[in-house]
Amino acid sequence: MSDRANLKAAADLIRQAGSVALACHVGPDGDALGSMLAFGLAARDAGKEVAASFGSPYSVPGNLGFLPTELLVPPEDFPAEPELMVVFDAGSAERLAELGSNASKAEKLIVVDHHATNEGFGDVSLIDPSAAATGELVHDLLVELGWEATPEIAQCLLTALVTDTGRFQYASTSPRTLRLAADLVAAGANPSQVSRHVYEQAPFGYLKAAGAALSRAHLERDKGVVSTTITEADLTEAGIGWGDIDNLIDIIRLAAEADVAVLAKLHEDGRVKVSLRSRGDTDVGALAAGMGGGGHRLAAGFTSEEPPEKVLAEVHRRIEGYR
Ligand code: 5GP
Ligand code: MN
Repeated sequence: MSDRANLKAAADLIRQAGSVALACHVGPDGDALGSMLAFGLAARDAGKEVAASFGSPYSVPGNLGFLPTELLVPPEDFPAEPELMVVFDAGSAERLAELGSNASKAEKLIVVDHHATNEGFGDVSLIDPSAAATGELVHDLLVELGWEATPEIAQCLLTALVTDTGRFQYASTSPRTLRLAADLVAAGANPSQVSRHVYEQAPFGYLKAAGAALSRAHLERDKGVVSTTITEADLTEAGIGWGDIDNLIDIIRLAAEADVAVLAKLHEDGRVKVSLRSRGDTDVGALAAGMGGGGHRLAAGFTSEEPPEKVLAEVHRRIEGYR
């Protein structure tokens, strides 16, 4: 459960505000976007003026386009000095990219998150690393506020739970997670719609780009690491974008010989975005933190400007230190 005192303090700030500006982490996933939009819809229903956004690149991943996105505004239209800003699923202010500056100018800032590494960077922090998804904490907050979860809100929260638990399969899935999912379905969420959009379909080009990345996959048996790269050229050739390959790491990590899966996404501008997953023996969150990123123990990432070969070699070199 979220800290009760903080829940109450957050609810008090929210009740007092006429407008709320909401942000989630860059490159939003189902938990970031689902949590933010769920809260945004509930705040709108409660009569607040709502703007929601995330830092550049401002593009909703294709498989999350089914969520109600009408509250979203591009980061340049986000209130410069919000009366009250609420931040979702971001372990630190850096994860907000350019909206970090709006957060620093907000009159009041509430942070809602479940990253163990989050030290809290707002006036009130609702941080619970035992929550499987930030969506669980948003639910606690809505209950505290007495705001009802409409079917649309329930759908956003179910998306948050489903995506951050890998469809209720990761170790973070608790009785509380499953009970909340049941309550959300009872409130009108549609599980088959979530899985259809998030997991059961992708543009045809995804098959091509995944094929290119899989054909380059490399297994280091002795270290238990499987790794590969995907380039912006792979995506362009396949006619898809970075927002279409969020599930690619889930194919890479199938390699039973590996505890750790590494996917390096090579951007045209030279940035290398690395996704890391562990089956359980390696703390990839700490590894990613050491490389300037962060995340959870078993799912993490970081961005580097170094040459990709160097970045991957460094990850391989460090892995044994995190077992
Ligand atoms: P993904 O590999 O799906 O992009 O990210 C997995 C998880 O790692 C995210 O939910 C987030 O917690 C974390 N993460 C990914 N990239 C970064 C990053 O650049 N910085 C930080 N702090 N966390 C990241
Ligand atoms: Mn999350």
